[in-house]
Amino acid sequence: MLDLASLTELLDQPRKIVITTHHKPDGDAMGSSLGLYHYLIQLGHHTKVITPTDYPEFLSWLPGNEDVIIYTEALQQSAKLIAEADLIFCLDFNSLGRINEMGELVRESSAYKVMIDHHLEPEDFDDYRHWNINACAAAQLVYDFIANVLHKKELINKDVATCLYTGILTDSASFRLPNTTSTVHRIVAELIDAGAVNWRIHELIYNSSSENRLRFLGHCLANRLEVLPEFNTAIIWVTKEDLAKYDINTGDTEGIVNYALSIASVRLAAFIVDRKDRVKLSLRSKGEFPANDICKRYFEGGGHRNAAGGQSMDTLEGTINKFKSILPEYKKLLIQ
Ligand code: 5GP
Ligand code: MN
Repeated sequence: MLDLASLTELLDQPRKIVITTHHKPDGDAMGSSLGLYHYLIQLGHHTKVITPTDYPEFLSWLPGNEDVIIYTEALQQSAKLIAEADLIFCLDFNSLGRINEMGELVRESSAYKVMIDHHLEPEDFDDYRHWNINACAAAQLVYDFIANVLHKKELINKDVATCLYTGILTDSASFRLPNTTSTVHRIVAELIDAGAVNWRIHELIYNSSSENRLRFLGHCLANRLEVLPEFNTAIIWVTKEDLAKYDINTGDTEGIVNYALSIASVRLAAFIVDRKDRVKLSLRSKGEFPANDICKRYFEGGGHRNAAGGQSMDTLEGTINKFKSILPEYKKLLIQ
């Protein structure tokens, strides 16, 4: 691993830079990527954000959104940019499997690879690493990278601040998770001072549902919520027909799992949805319960202790049954 501080020199002259983030990017993935983007373009670097897939509509207001390249919609252009890059920043993920087919392109590129991430167990594909699992968001680490590694805090302008605020807001579940430390609040205060309009960002992220999405939420809570009191666990499951009936798109299901977690007794909540090609699981937990352990061991996934995800190639019913069948193993932790 190379010394992170030496990136200062490397970034002294204009470079060809690609920023990428994980499959189905969330608020932190896009916020951290576009935050870094707005920093780098001020220095004259030729910078492109390439996402492996599309991302939710509720993030499309982010400054710089119109410049983002979606890999699946621009295969050749993306491959060329990745192959010719001097530097590739990998944000909010730490294993190349998380960026689908782009993973091999990144691996093969002769560019220096810089990982900025807060997930457990990083894979060894990078040359530079700014990694801390205690960070509440990759956006927090991008702030730290600009302010404390590159010593360029003065370049955190309104666009940088807006994007980084969005990443921290969404990944800390609106400043609610245990990793929302006093340091995070100080960073957020600085981002507001730098131009992030906090109340407006909240509105754009959380008060921008379609009517369908709200009715879908009602359907999930009324008809798809199953509480398992003996395990302090709640499940919300969604069929392909549900998705079609309510015209549910990428991002519309985000956050629904938190309603299951909002039941006082519930320590573990699962949102299980039958997507086109696989069944996707989103797990959330309270306190010490390791949701990521379940995803990693049983559902080809991972994530953080309190927010993790995974998948299954089984049917929806088979996946729900499998999830239920592993709960006895975790019972002691769940009923503490
Ligand atoms: P979500 O439930 O919002 O899809 O994901 C929650 C967290 O788990 C995110 O921080 C994400 O990075 C992680 N995660 C979700 N799906 C996967 C997966 O398939 N593999 C891994 N390693 N992490 C995942
Ligand atoms: Mn993140």
